[in-house]
Amino acid sequence: MELGYGYRKNGDTYTPEYIAGLNIEDCLGCGRCYKVCGEGVFELVDRADLDVDDDDDYEDEGTMVMTIANSDLCIGCQACSRVCAKKCQSFEKLAA
Ligand code: SF4
Ligand code: SF4
Repeated sequence: MELGYGYRKNGDTYTPEYIAGLNIEDCLGCGRCYKVCGEGVFELVDRADLDVDDDDDYEDEGTMVMTIANSDLCIGCQACSRVCAKKCQSFEKLAA
């Protein structure tokens, strides 16, 4: 069973698909998703500060990457995906 319903202006409902993940390997750090998201979901951070095993190429400070800071605030509009050239974001519907 799917949960989570949005309402269009005309009163019809739709099922939002919420942010579930972000592929930091492909992220360019361009900031487009951050700018388009009106809900404060994303945070741009220095890749060197992430606690992940990564390519040596990314160890230099100053290489920025997008992260999900507040996934619970997502309203499921998917605007972030439409502006991302690398299609880094993944989505999921709420499940019962
Ligand atoms: S739009 Fe895509 S490539 Fe640009 S910062 Fe966001 S996730 Fe990274
Ligand atoms: S789906 Fe919409 S609200 Fe959710 S992170 Fe993307 S732009 Fe923000």
